[in-house]
Amino acid sequence: MCRHLAHLGPTPVTLAAVVTEPPHSLLVQSYAPSDMRGGGTVNADGFGVGWYVRDLLSYSSEDHARGEPVLYRRDDPMWTDASFLDLARAVETTALVAAVRSATVGMPVSTAACAPFRGEAGGSTWLFSHNGVVRGWPHSVADLAATLPALDLLTLEAATDSALLWALVRARIAAGKDAADAVAGVVTEALAAAPASRLNLLLSDGAQVVATAVDHALSYRTHADGAVTVASEPLDDDAAWTAVPDGSLLVARPGGPHDPPAVTVTALSP
Ligand code: GLN
Repeated sequence: MCRHLAHLGPTPVTLAAVVTEPPHSLLVQSYAPSDMRGGGTVNADGFGVGWYVRDLLSYSSEDHARGEPVLYRRDDPMWTDASFLDLARAVETTALVAAVRSATVGMPVSTAACAPFRGEAGGSTWLFSHNGVVRGWPHSVADLAATLPALDLLTLEAATDSALLWALVRARIAAGKDAADAVAGVVTEALAAAPASRLNLLLSDGAQVVATAVDHALSYRTHADGAVTVASEPLDDDAAWTAVPDGSLLVARPGGPHDPPAVTVTALSP
């Protein structure tokens, strides 16, 4: 059932320091996850890492103040990509989202179906990931999909539940909702349409991370320099990791050396 993480901090870190080097890194979780809850044994159907780069020329036509995310995605297992493992040791960032994928049965295996998804909405460029499954896909959420602008439907990145959830979140942000409201609203509506779905969503614009825990594992920790990491599974056995209760919405912003990170965990309304 896929694994994902986001790391935001005041200090640049290498991609490797978060994604490939910790004892229970996302790389390890791609072949030996420990808390998959109801589906899959490995996350070998591809992976992706998106990281914000301040001075990158915008990939879209608009100018963004906060920096743009670079996206690296493959439809192979992370452990087979020696070039990624190499470049991860050389690339530094203050904000990244990464995921390893275990494709839900019936859904395509392709690079375009690998999280994170990237897109612009409301003046920011976002990275989005989903751990889980929409039950009864696609029939259960046909009405929800029909609420999307036609262009959003026609430009869905992949024929997967995750790509639809991303389009729904993005449409809400484009319509003026803040990120946490957009994510919470989509989870509530998707659960109403497709009960018992597993909906761990993760969204970042490089300044904040919004995540949900709905029938899937999620933990977070803060670091002394003000950084915050949110991950499906703790990356090591440090006691600083806190498990997020099921049915929660997490919003986190990094701090600095003199100001702690801000993390709030609230119950999602039913
Ligand atoms: N259902 C999504 C997909 O197929 C997510 C899969 C997962 O979490 N295992 O991409």
